[in-house]
Amino acid sequence: MAVSCPECGHQYDVTLFQFGQAVTCDCGAVVRFGGAPRPGGSGPDGAIPDMVELPIDGILDLHAFDPADVRELLPEYLNACREKGIFRVRIIHGKGTGEMMKTVHALLVRLAEVESFALAGSREGGTGATIVLLKT
Ligand SMILES: [Zn+2]
Repeated sequence: MAVSCPECGHQYDVTLFQFGQAVTCDCGAVVRFGGAPRPGGSGPDGAIPDMVELPIDGILDLHAFDPADVRELLPEYLNACREKGIFRVRIIHGKGTGEMMKTVHALLVRLAEVESFALAGSREGGTGATIVLLKT
């Protein structure tokens, strides 16, 4: 995915593994690579808020993400899981309005690497999470 510097518009290509990090642009502005600040994460001095960490462990928590980011993030995350030999992924999209779930499900039906998916059982988040089985 690409992000652009808010000051000079310089475009940066961002991989999944840089997601949630930040760099200082040539123009001096701080460019943040997606993710969302944790509540209370920003300091009084205007420091960069804490970023969402994104470990590849088969559990993807989308609470902090924007649906627009998820469209690029989700396929990359699932590919990264397959590369690590993880073929069962829990995607936590929350209950809320159901919009994030619809976004996730609409993506999953289009992805060739997805074998099947279903809402999680009550022990794994119920309708707030989806279990994805990836093709081996
Ligand atoms: Zn810049």
